[in-house]
Amino acid sequence: MAWFSWGKYGMSILRGCNDDDAVDEYVPGGTITKAQFRAVLNAAALVLPDGAGVVLGAKILKTPLKQKVAGIEFAQNLLPILEETGKRLFLLGSKPGIAEAAAEKMLQKHPKLCICGTMDGYFKEDSEAVRRINEAQADVVYVCLGAPKQENFMHAHTADLKVKLMIGLGGTLDGIAGTVKRAPRWMIRLQLEWLYRLIKEPRRLGRMMRLPKFVFAAIKMRMKG
Ligand code: UDP
Repeated sequence: MAWFSWGKYGMSILRGCNDDDAVDEYVPGGTITKAQFRAVLNAAALVLPDGAGVVLGAKILKTPLKQKVAGIEFAQNLLPILEETGKRLFLLGSKPGIAEAAAEKMLQKHPKLCICGTMDGYFKEDSEAVRRINEAQADVVYVCLGAPKQENFMHAHTADLKVKLMIGLGGTLDGIAGTVKRAPRWMIRLQLEWLYRLIKEPRRLGRMMRLPKFVFAAIKMRMKG
């Protein structure tokens, strides 16, 4: 538990080229500008690189990162710590029923884990989610709303939420519930997880087409010094 102390923290898992803000025309959800999204990301206590693109970009910029940290692995590795310390975990996000299915899977492995509440990610008013999380007296919230919705949610409600840690984890609950399969190990090892997701979800092509632009932007920035 040395890597963070309990405090009011927001964390984000950055999946690089699909959610990046290095591409000029990228306006997430059409609701915030890339500069605003950058500010939101930079306000997080910790941002982890969940994408081969971020790792590659950092390498090009000569500020290498040790490795990709997949959100789902991070979330799963945190569970035994939450179980041991008796912290209360709230699962927010994904389609109706998914958070409950993920909770069941978590409890099979960690029977003493305290999951104090669940809620799907298709709520109309943020205030409803805030109220339920506070009523559940959660210490930690896995915020699985996809980018940039989850980052905006965490940023906007830092003051309203009486929690100690919020982590933006994209499709992690789908992965834990088993409704979305992760790439086979050999693909993860070869950093081809993005290709697996593209094959499974071709609608992601638009997002992934930004990869070459992102790499080019990194090269340009490196050349500028
Ligand atoms: N989602 C949600 N509410 C929304 C939009 C999306 O809860 O309004 C969920 C969606 O069901 C999925 C997750 O957010 O479980 C996004 O998953 P994805 O793998 O696309 O995450 P990303 O790649 O953005 O991290």
